Amino acid sequence: MHGPSEAFPLDEASIGRLLDGAPAQDPVRVRDILARARELRGLDEADLPVLMAVQRPDLLDELFHAAEQVKEEIYGRRIVLFAPLYVSNLCGNECLYCAFRASNRGLTRRALGQAEIAAEVCHLLRQGHKRLLLVAGEAYPKEGLDYILKAIRTIYATREGAESIRRVNVNIAPLDLPDFRRLKETQIGTYQLFQETYHRATYALMHPRGLKADYDWRLGCMDRAMQAGIEDVGIGALFGLHDWRFELLALLRHARHLEDRFGCGPHTISVPRIEPAEGSTTSEAPPFAVTDADFRKLVAILRLAVPYTGLILSTRERPEVRREVFHLGISQISAGSRTNPGGYREEEAGNGPGDGGAQFSLGDHRDLDEVVRDLAESGFIPSFCTGCYRMGRTGADFMDLAKPGEIKLHCQPNALSTLQEFVEDHASPATRAAAEILVAGSLAAMDDRARTRAGAMVARVRRGERDVFC
Ligand code: SAM
Ligand code: SF4
Repeated sequence: MHGPSEAFPLDEASIGRLLDGAPAQDPVRVRDILARARELRGLDEADLPVLMAVQRPDLLDELFHAAEQVKEEIYGRRIVLFAPLYVSNLCGNECLYCAFRASNRGLTRRALGQAEIAAEVCHLLRQGHKRLLLVAGEAYPKEGLDYILKAIRTIYATREGAESIRRVNVNIAPLDLPDFRRLKETQIGTYQLFQETYHRATYALMHPRGLKADYDWRLGCMDRAMQAGIEDVGIGALFGLHDWRFELLALLRHARHLEDRFGCGPHTISVPRIEPAEGSTTSEAPPFAVTDADFRKLVAILRLAVPYTGLILSTRERPEVRREVFHLGISQISAGSRTNPGGYREEEAGNGPGDGGAQFSLGDHRDLDEVVRDLAESGFIPSFCTGCYRMGRTGADFMDLAKPGEIKLHCQPNALSTLQEFVEDHASPATRAAAEILVAGSLAAMDDRARTRAGAMVARVRRGERDVFC
């Protein structure tokens, strides 16, 4: 088993007390909290149960409106796009909700070789992606972790014409301190890991065997990653395993713990909901299924609670749900995803949707071009920006910029220049038309200084320059 872990003291009992003492709907208190949240000051944990209790349609509207205001104030209307890259579905764990679980004999097991990984990357580059999230089960081919480290280097080194991936984030099992140091050397962007559920008893039920059965090893993982110098970490919970209200409070505590200890909270929080997965026991009815109405509420509350933290939504959600929660604070989404190793190339080769060996079913099957068009038509700026990471604006430096609201000065122009790049190199005629209208409208809505700066960047891309960012 693992050595001692430095997990933070979550204190479940006190979360339980906060929830048990949740007030009945109290409009005065709700409005007072929303007023504070609009000043971008975040929320105290005692505020969360008050907002969670909101049911009245007019108060809910006020909650959603406040979340939208906060999001626009900090990030503007940009939504960053990425694709997951599943390199292997080998796994020694037994997570009851996942198709990769070791006992699932119905799954074709596969770990991509480095050449196959490069081929997947070429496919994603041809679609127009610039930012990938490497994902793997918790068992590697015989090289062990070196397999993943090599895969990251392969991704960065792969070229399709003049194009290459500019930021690789990873979602792999917890490591010890020395291995996190090795991971950092590969120049990853964000290290992402979800606690799945912060509720210890539920965690034990859902993870009966394998390395992942150790709750504390996982809970202390981000402490080890940050100790190893990885500045951008992404936390999350798999919604549906336990009461979403408990998970939200625990996520907030986790974020505050990292902030207190390392001077910087998580870069992102992910909000996956459980999807049906082959061979899983949660497919029919997740124990605490989150309704669409509660999902909207939880996204909005998170947006208000941690205004400077990116919120990530995956292709697990249906397009209608995705559209709604963009307004409420989501800042990053995956698009055109496949969750089976080799899935992109199989699809390109015309072998159908390529779902054999997939981790779970997708709710959104559209390709990147369609997602870009839909975002543009809804007034959101699809962004392929990787500027902060490449300018070294990570960890506390990013938060220092985000807190006075200055990150928008980078996000907006970078979103427009990278969208223009997509238009020039990858967009279908319909998407090009929608994006051109959006770029022109966004520039027109800026103040003079911002317009001059962003307009110049877009013009450079139109003249043929690439990778223009500030
Ligand atoms: N194997 C590593 C781990 O479990 O941390 C990393 C990769 S795992 C494939 C990535 C995430 O997929 C998990 O953290 C879990 O939240 C999510 N996942 C697993 N089964 C899912 C399902 N049925 N629906 C939605 N998300 C799921
Ligand atoms: Fe393996 Fe991760 Fe799936 Fe669990 S969630 S079975 S650890 S891939």
